[in-house]
Amino acid sequence: KFISFEGPDGAGKTSVIRQIKADLIAQLGENQVLYSREPGGSPIAEQIRQVLFAPENKDMDARTEALLFAASRRQHVVSTLRPALAAGKVILCDRYVDSSLVYQGAGRQLGEETIWKLNQYAIDGLMPGLTIDLDVPSEVGLRRIAEHRADQVNRLDKEKLSFHHMVRHAFLDLQKDDPDRIKLVDASQPLDQVVANVKRVINQRYPE
Ligand code: C5P
Ligand code: MG
Repeated sequence: KFISFEGPDGAGKTSVIRQIKADLIAQLGENQVLYSREPGGSPIAEQIRQVLFAPENKDMDARTEALLFAASRRQHVVSTLRPALAAGKVILCDRYVDSSLVYQGAGRQLGEETIWKLNQYAIDGLMPGLTIDLDVPSEVGLRRIAEHRADQVNRLDKEKLSFHHMVRHAFLDLQKDDPDRIKLVDASQPLDQVVANVKRVINQRYPE
C-alpha cells in the first residue's frame, strides 16, 4: 500500500501524517509502516534536497529545479519505496509526483506534460494506490506558515499569494482528472477532524 499526501503549503500534511502513522503503527507494528518525504527519503535524495532548498541557490534555473526534484524522486523510489513495498509495508509519503506536476509544471510554468514525461522516467511505473489532497485556501495556508513555521521557511517557501492560489488550483485540477486515485480532504478544519476524515478515506480505499 502506497499512500501519498499532497496539497499546498500550510495544509498540515506533516502533522496529519504524523497522527496517521502513529495510528497505523499501533495497528500493524513499527516495521510494517514506512513514513517518508520528498524531496528526500534516502541518503542521496536528501543530499539533493539540500541543494534544492539552500538559500544561496536562489538563482536556480526552473528546469534544473525540475530535474533535481525528479532525480531525488528516482533515488527515493529505488532505494526506499520499492524495497518497502517488497517487504509488504504501508508507505505514507509526504509529497510525491503530483507536487512536481503542480509546483514545477504549473507553478514554474514548465508544463505538466513535460514534467509528467520527466517523472515517468524517474518513477518507472510506481504510482501511489491512494493520494490524499489536503486542500486549504491559500490565505489559511499562508497564515499557518506565518504563525507556526516562520523559523523553518526554505528558499521555496517564499512565494506570493498568487503562486499559492495557482498551486492550490492545480492540485484541485489533478484531483478532478484522477478522482479514483486522488481523494480530496478539507484541511481547513481542526487537525483532529482532518485526521478523522483522512482515516475514513484510507479505510474506504483499503478496507480490512
Ligand atoms: O513539503 P513541504 O511543504 O515542506 O515542501 C517544502 C517546499 O518545497 C515547499 O515550499 C514547496 O512549495 C516546495 N516544493 C516545490 N516543488 C516540489 C515539492 C515541494 O517547489 N515538487
Ligand atoms: Mg511547505
